[in-house]
Amino acid sequence: MTASTLPILPTTVVGSYAIPAWLWAAYEKIEAGGFGRMDVAETENDAVATAVRDQERAGVDVISDGEMRRQGFIVSIFKYFHGLKPIEPRRKVGVLSYDGHVLYEPVERISAPDGLGTVRELQYLRQVTARPFKITLPGPLTLATQITKGGPYRDRVEVATDLAPIINRELRALAAGGAENLQIDDVYQSFMMEPKRLVELYDRCFEGVAVTRRFWHICFGTLEGFGFGERTYRPLFPMISSASADQLVFEFANREMAETGLWREFDCPKELGAGVLDLKNFYVESPELVARRIRRMLESVPAERLWINPDCGLARLPRHLAFAKLQALVIGTRQVRQELTGRAEPGCTTGERA
Ligand SMILES: [Zn+2]
Repeated sequence: MTASTLPILPTTVVGSYAIPAWLWAAYEKIEAGGFGRMDVAETENDAVATAVRDQERAGVDVISDGEMRRQGFIVSIFKYFHGLKPIEPRRKVGVLSYDGHVLYEPVERISAPDGLGTVRELQYLRQVTARPFKITLPGPLTLATQITKGGPYRDRVEVATDLAPIINRELRALAAGGAENLQIDDVYQSFMMEPKRLVELYDRCFEGVAVTRRFWHICFGTLEGFGFGERTYRPLFPMISSASADQLVFEFANREMAETGLWREFDCPKELGAGVLDLKNFYVESPELVARRIRRMLESVPAERLWINPDCGLARLPRHLAFAKLQALVIGTRQVRQELTGRAEPGCTTGERA
């Protein structure tokens, strides 16, 4: 299946996939210095192959590499930046949450002379799958939440502004390398920035980036089941419609499908990647529940502009749960497709386990 032959209601993921048990074990050995450079590369390649295979087996149309080289969404990205000094986490004991991260203080203007590592991700992914895929990058605002003021920067907004051209260079390199679907991930913290400024930052990242689809995932955070901020997209409208993104990727399932009417209310011309899997919930949605959620979205978004995905990345889920949820997503989507087209949809490999 090529990008041009995608079915109606294409299924995809937001980005990260569940980390296999053996990779958690390998992380410990890597951190302790027990792996050589080639051992790390081999381990990461195997992890990507596993994530790809699981998504293919579940029947996802547009997959990702599971962000398997990133050690949890953005941790590894920071190793590519120059000009940052790590600060000890403010809290190290007890539950892991947003106050337990390593923060970084700028000591000079931030740069990334060797890029952010995603071109290597693209090259390997092309070797291990024939499916269409997307590649994601954290947005400047999201990266800036882990960077304090300091050095030449008076606040995090100035930091984010300086990160945008670095992300832009990375996206251009991915496009030049043949990537067709590129996405920026942002955790929406309304207290940090006006929607207009948020859109300007996104557009700066994608300036001159020629690809089939520019995605923009905005969510409220999923770390250990915790969100961050008031969970409403309403303040972004109508400004968000002016962004250069082709598709907005939003979370709905964990908000009990609140705000599904925004597309119609604001006549939003964008495609919507609708989150129909609740990742802050340990149960596996039935395909029927997924189908109901999709039908709800179709009341506001035309089928030609609707894509189906989980609420967020799957990295914080155990793998058996991530796989079962993806299966439900695919089967539920096929049910709705069949209703829309009148054509029988292929079944899915039910009963398999990750
Ligand atoms: Zn997310």
